[in-house]
Amino acid sequence: MMLIPCPWCGERAQVEFAYGGDATVKRPADPASASDREWHDYVFVRDNPKGPLDELWYHAAGCRRYFRVRRDTVTHAILASTPLPEIT
Ligand SMILES: [Zn+2]
Repeated sequence: MMLIPCPWCGERAQVEFAYGGDATVKRPADPASASDREWHDYVFVRDNPKGPLDELWYHAAGCRRYFRVRRDTVTHAILASTPLPEIT
């Protein structure tokens, strides 16, 4: 069983969380002028790296907050767990 350290609740079982995807994907800088190809890539295309990856996780059965987890995709070792910046 994989344990994920929530920045607010501490270490909990992975079943309490929902995977939010790759945290490094960037939305097109100018959405109004982005091409169909840019939107397609933003929505559907993901790398599948071997090793450390920054991911979004949602603590669905806990504090109900998103946060960033750096996880090694080979070993599943959690390398870091940090809150997201506040959006104002
Ligand atoms: Zn939490």
